[in-house]
Amino acid sequence: MPARVAVVTTGGTIACRIDPESGAAIPVVTGPELVGLIPDLGRVAAVEVRELSLVPSWEFTLPYIDRIRRAVEEAFASGAEGVVVTQGTDTLEETAFWLDLTLDVPALGGPVVVTGAMRNNSESGADGPRNILDAVTVAAEGQNGFRAPVAVTNSHVHAARWVTKTDSFNPNTFQSPGHGPIGAVWGDAIAHSAAIDPLPPIPVSDPGKRVMLIRWAAGMDDLFLRACLDAGVDGVVIEGMGLGHIPGDTVPAVAALRERGIPVIITTRCWSGPALPVYGGPGGGRDLAAMGCIFGRGLNGTRSRLLLAAGLGAGMGQDELAELFAGPRGAVTV
Ligand code: ASP
Repeated sequence: MPARVAVVTTGGTIACRIDPESGAAIPVVTGPELVGLIPDLGRVAAVEVRELSLVPSWEFTLPYIDRIRRAVEEAFASGAEGVVVTQGTDTLEETAFWLDLTLDVPALGGPVVVTGAMRNNSESGADGPRNILDAVTVAAEGQNGFRAPVAVTNSHVHAARWVTKTDSFNPNTFQSPGHGPIGAVWGDAIAHSAAIDPLPPIPVSDPGKRVMLIRWAAGMDDLFLRACLDAGVDGVVIEGMGLGHIPGDTVPAVAALRERGIPVIITTRCWSGPALPVYGGPGGGRDLAAMGCIFGRGLNGTRSRLLLAAGLGAGMGQDELAELFAGPRGAVTV
């Protein structure tokens, strides 16, 4: 009996064709059509399609990403032994990380796999059909499969907690910097090169928290921080310079956010390494830590924003958020 695998479709390049009138790539390939493009699929699994949308992933919101999470849970509840999500690659790492934060894969009973494509279905060498075949092959491992969410593209399996889009054009875009892939798909065979342990899921009841990410550059002023203050956002993540520094004359705006009880997470704009409270002086890490800013440690800005949104959405206050970032969730990237 082939394994039962659900494919949750949302749109993205993997569902695009070139519109003959405008020449633009548009998501038009429905879920059933998408799996119909891959005749080999039936050999690998009994596939059931759950079509959620036909949109580019740059339109995704956190409540929508959480809707994908629910679709995954619903598919398992109706008997799937593995689930594949297809979406645009622009925010694939966000969906993957959110699923890693919120799902308990061993309890669900099978793999959770996210995939996408860099070349649409009108292009030579379209990578979508092969990526879906590989993703379904990984999902069809059922209880023997990867124990935390993964992304499968370009014949590689990446841990959802590490994977990132590194190139805006090349199909080899998805990488896990500092870690490498945890597996590979060689036709029907799946190589597991590293085990990935599940982390306890965060019980998010409100995925709609408004958390802003501000990337710093030399000489920027406090405009975006003040805008966050005026708008009364739920949380702010700063991608600071080096170990997470910002200019001294912007620090009063951070202090104002903190006085209002708004959590502020400090991360680094460097592509690897942590944000840490080492330096003194205004805008140094010691100064920011003394105001109650929380350090993102090994998480970059994008991932810190999701972890903060998940923690806030689970009702956590300042102390619990600090613990969350200080725990294994804050150490998952290098
Ligand atoms: N370039 C994107 C993709 O790969 C567009 C999107 O994210 O929807 O699908």
